[in-house]
Parts: sequence; C-alpha cells; structure tokens
Amino acid sequence: MSLTLILSCEHGGNRIPPRYAALFRGAKRALESHRGYDPGSLELARLMARQLRAPLVYSTVSRLLIELNRSPGHPRLFSEFSRPLDPAAREELVQRYYLPYRRRVTALVEEALRRGGRVLHVGVHTFTPDFEGVRRTADVALLYDPARRFERNVADRWLAALRQLRPDLELRRNYPYRGTSDGLTTILRRHFGPRYAGIELEVNQSWPMRSACRALQRNLALSLGVACHTFTPTQAHGLIPRDATAIR
Ligand SMILES: [Zn+2]
Repeated sequence: MSLTLILSCEHGGNRIPPRYAALFRGAKRALESHRGYDPGSLELARLMARQLRAPLVYSTVSRLLIELNRSPGHPRLFSEFSRPLDPAAREELVQRYYLPYRRRVTALVEEALRRGGRVLHVGVHTFTPDFEGVRRTADVALLYDPARRFERNVADRWLAALRQLRPDLELRRNYPYRGTSDGLTTILRRHFGPRYAGIELEVNQSWPMRSACRALQRNLALSLGVACHTFTPTQAHGLIPRDATAIR
C-alpha cells in the first residue's frame, strides 16, 4: 500500500497583516517570543519538504492573530490581542486565514486517499525550552495518538531511525504536549479515520540558535524518510535509498 507524506507548518511566522497592526501595538515582545510563532519551524519544514519531495502547507501569519492549531470555537482560537475584535471581524479572520489553511491541508489528504494507500501528515513545530519556570531538556519529540496503531508504528520507526543517527539527542513521545490534545491532527484523525496518521514533530527552540542545527534538520528529514521507506520499500522517499546506507 502506498504512503503519501504531507507536511504542514501552522506556526511558521509572526507576521501581522497591516490591517490588523493596530491590535498589536506594544506587542512586539509577545510576537517575537514563542507565543507569536515557532522559531525555526518553517526553515525545518522547508528543508524536510525539499529533501523528501513532499508537499508543504505553511502559514507565516502569527498564531496570536488566529491559532491554526485549534478547533473552531476553541477558547484559544483567538489571543488576548485578537479576541477583542467584534464577532464579524473575528469571523473574517476565520474566513481569511483559518479556513483556507485547513482546506489546503484537507484537500491534499483527500486527494492522496482517493488514489488509495495511506497518508502520513507531519505537522512541524518547535517548543520553548523555558516554559513558566520549567526547563524542558528534550531535543526532539513526536506527538501522536498512542491508541492508533498506524501512528504508533510511524513514531516507533521514526524515533528508531533518529536514535541510530543521533544517539546524543534526548527523544521523547507526547512531550511537552499530548498528541490527543485539540489541534489540526486531532481534527483530521476524526475526519479521515485509520488510513490517516497525524504526527506532530516538536523540536526544542534552543536548536535553531546552534550552528549544528542544519545537521539536525537533515537528520530529522533522513530519519523520517527511512521510517516512510519501511512502510513502502518500493516507493522513493526523498533521500532513500541513496543515504539509507549511512545509518546501517
Ligand atoms: Zn507550533
């Protein structure tokens, strides 16, 4: 059975479109922090998309305007900056940014499922190493629903391949969040059923600051390619098979 890889990056940037700039006066610090976006996530997602020849859907609009990784109606769909907008203006944000993004990802999954086979959707994220006084030491984590076998299998194989490449890294599962919490993958699981696997990749934000970050990005792409390859050895997954020998 074929496996189609689809990448997304919900928190790729901290851009505020000019028409909403007034809402964010004095919010520069929040916008530039992990609250505004996931530093390093878009660069990583782009590299993975290139290396694995996978489609990528991404947003560069700040999550503080509208949070693409929440369900409609979720109390944190809007932030303290955008919540004061009147209902019509909030609905406009949904129509202008939220729904088109959701539709793009959904359409890619639908199209791939229609061709038969399965879909692996990877949402690329980064997390802050310091959260409310708690130091987060993990380097890389995968969030998924442990009750779903397809997702568990992908996570097992991806982490195993990454561990072989990078025994120096602290790898975690469902950390610092649970894969079953409200979010894009959770919504799509419900919608698409067992032929869809939705996994969120979470990378510690201390990494984009390091010179060794490029190597980590490549290792993440390669290990994901290796994991995909174990599902469908006859299919090409980016670097496979050329670099597969590197981890043997
Ligand atoms: Zn994120």
